[in-house]
Amino acid sequence: MEASIRQELSNAQRLGIMGGTFDPIHYGHLVAAETARVELGLDYVLFIPTGESPHKNNLKVTDAEMRFEMVEISIKNNKYFKASRIEIERKGPSYTVDTLREIHKLLPKQEIFFITGTDAMIDILSWREPEEIFRLARVIGASRPGYESQKHLAKIFSQYPESRDRLYQLEIPALAISSTYIRSRVGNNKSVRYLLPDEVRMYIENNGLYR
Ligand code: ATP
Ligand code: MG
Repeated sequence: MEASIRQELSNAQRLGIMGGTFDPIHYGHLVAAETARVELGLDYVLFIPTGESPHKNNLKVTDAEMRFEMVEISIKNNKYFKASRIEIERKGPSYTVDTLREIHKLLPKQEIFFITGTDAMIDILSWREPEEIFRLARVIGASRPGYESQKHLAKIFSQYPESRDRLYQLEIPALAISSTYIRSRVGNNKSVRYLLPDEVRMYIENNGLYR
């Protein structure tokens, strides 16, 4: 992790982590992070764009530097939001457990809240070392239109009893926005205005992304 970020976060007590491909970042991500920050009293939310995603076909994923830049543009007006290159700098696929371990090592006193959407949360059983993830962090599942979590939660709780008081659901204002939807609209020459920050929309246009 960047020394400057470590320094800034060292006085935080409760730290949110928002991981994602962010290809591109949009208002769904930003609303999830801001709602979690306010509702859970987080001192900061750290956005961590994936390097290589274990879940995605990396041939089709936009260059990490560009995804990182779009994240930076989006969060610059929120002093509680920071972005880290921790996964971009690490070689190989980005596993959440490795990222949480690294953060915990550098910031051992901080309480860590890993923020996901419901779709990602119900997948958690297929992630690497879920029990270690629950040990290192509380996991926040922010509601996302189209994803029901109830029966999945029961399964996670029974398979990993330690998750019972480490996994929370968070109601956020529903935004049925996904990066996939934005990419496909750009590809079809349709407007993506109001789905993501204007500066990111301009960045996409200026760099000819998703065409
Ligand atoms: P893609 O369509 O490419 O999968 P995405 O919109 O799902 O993109 P990701 O980068 O995959 O975005 O997601 C990062 C995290 O943000 C995940 O935990 C995901 O569940 C969450 N998330 C994304 N969009 C929303 C949304 N509209 N509401 C709540 N959570 C969201
Ligand atoms: Mg996704």
